[in-house]
Amino acid sequence: MAYLTKSKFLAGMQCKKRLWLQVNRKDLIPTIDVSGQYRIDTGNLVGLLACQAYPEGTRADSAAGDLVLAAENSQALMEDEAIPVLFEPTFVFENQAMRADIMIRTENGKWDLHEVKSSTGEKEEHFYDVWFQHNLLKSKGIQIDRYGLTYLNKDFIYDGGEHDLDQLFVFKDFSDKLPGLDNVLTPALDTFKQVMAKDEEPQIDMSKHCKGCEFFEYCSINKPKYWIYYLPRINEPKWEKLTELGIEDIADIPEDFPLSPTQQTVREATANNKTFISPGMGEALEQVQYPLYFLDFESFNEAIPRYAGCKTYQQIVFQWSCHIVHEDGTAEHKEFLHNDDSDPRKAFIEAMLKCVGTEGSIIHYASFEKARLNELAKTFPEYADKIAAVVERLYDLYAVISKNYYDPKFRGSFSIKKVLPVLVPDLSYEGLEIGEGGTASVKYLEMVNPETESEIKEKIRTALLVYCKLDTKAMVRIWQTLKETEV
Ligand code: SF4
Repeated sequence: MAYLTKSKFLAGMQCKKRLWLQVNRKDLIPTIDVSGQYRIDTGNLVGLLACQAYPEGTRADSAAGDLVLAAENSQALMEDEAIPVLFEPTFVFENQAMRADIMIRTENGKWDLHEVKSSTGEKEEHFYDVWFQHNLLKSKGIQIDRYGLTYLNKDFIYDGGEHDLDQLFVFKDFSDKLPGLDNVLTPALDTFKQVMAKDEEPQIDMSKHCKGCEFFEYCSINKPKYWIYYLPRINEPKWEKLTELGIEDIADIPEDFPLSPTQQTVREATANNKTFISPGMGEALEQVQYPLYFLDFESFNEAIPRYAGCKTYQQIVFQWSCHIVHEDGTAEHKEFLHNDDSDPRKAFIEAMLKCVGTEGSIIHYASFEKARLNELAKTFPEYADKIAAVVERLYDLYAVISKNYYDPKFRGSFSIKKVLPVLVPDLSYEGLEIGEGGTASVKYLEMVNPETESEIKEKIRTALLVYCKLDTKAMVRIWQTLKETEV
């Protein structure tokens, strides 16, 4: 029997087809990648820490996923008044099932329910999540005093000792909000039960609501190559208007359809199958001073800060790569990768400042590097002046491309992963052991874990160096290609 669970209810709130596919077409669910697994592990870690705030708590037996047996076990624990706090009790009502995160016994047989999230604030879906639990427990006649969310305190600053759980977590009481959701969510729940029982896949048009859905590839298989979904920053009203007009392909958007300048450029280039090069590109490319430092950072950001003075999800830079191109055409490469689980930031800054010196443009791609430099200047005031001087020399290649150059094959994106294969087809991230930033963060943390075997550490170190070096090499080659195609 397929149960309607919290996560399926949330899937249904996004899209009924997503719910149906989760139940009936599990074969289409992509395997979890390194970054996805890290997010799951983070959620579990946060959940465990939230439980540690209640040392008197008892963990309910999950009965190896047998929901009916798990619910019976939980029921027995609920009836034992000597147990003040329960972790992960399971409840089943008809074809609905849930596992609460933390339940705290209050008075007169009542409970408080805490849903634990690894976010630093509340989101709309959290209300749906808690409402689903409230509705199921109400159906079972379980009395709850307060329903709420326990999430990470965004203002928490780690002092370096044991994490102060009272400060790390925030509790937000949702109880007053839940009855007001009944009008919308009760009919939604009934609909979802019917959807799950159907043999036929629901027919749902794709739209902006598809973002982040695991079935995106499956659903979009027959969409045009230059689908309007890829029009940069397309908003809901424009999407709806184009859909009303029956337009799916960027090339078919009428010339007089209101678009932003970037969207207009994308439309024109796609409709004419011609690369757009702005008359100002040559001048924009001249706005640099040699030597050119092509610089890229890698960082990780953890839910639970590991270094004193850090906040939750604070970005910690641990690696940089720099290709230096001199005016006479000669080039060199320098790099930095921290090697153990100590705070990498001071060593990172010192090595980077030494590398970039005091003259020449520092070319980066998008806003990430600038944001990290500004954070580092704030955190380490002793380097603030020198970092400010580095920031003054920054030159954003992403901004230059997105303003001055568009090839229809970018398919609406100016990210380096989309731009590189078009402008420099002989250079690729394909086949790399580490091929994107999320994986780099996770692998770095694995490398600096003292428990990781030295052979694996060495393998990861090599893969990280190869990946980051490619990022800056890609920038150099993109730069050179643009210079050669100047008008
Ligand atoms: S890709 Fe869109 S239409 Fe398809 S299941 Fe996901 S949300 Fe629904």
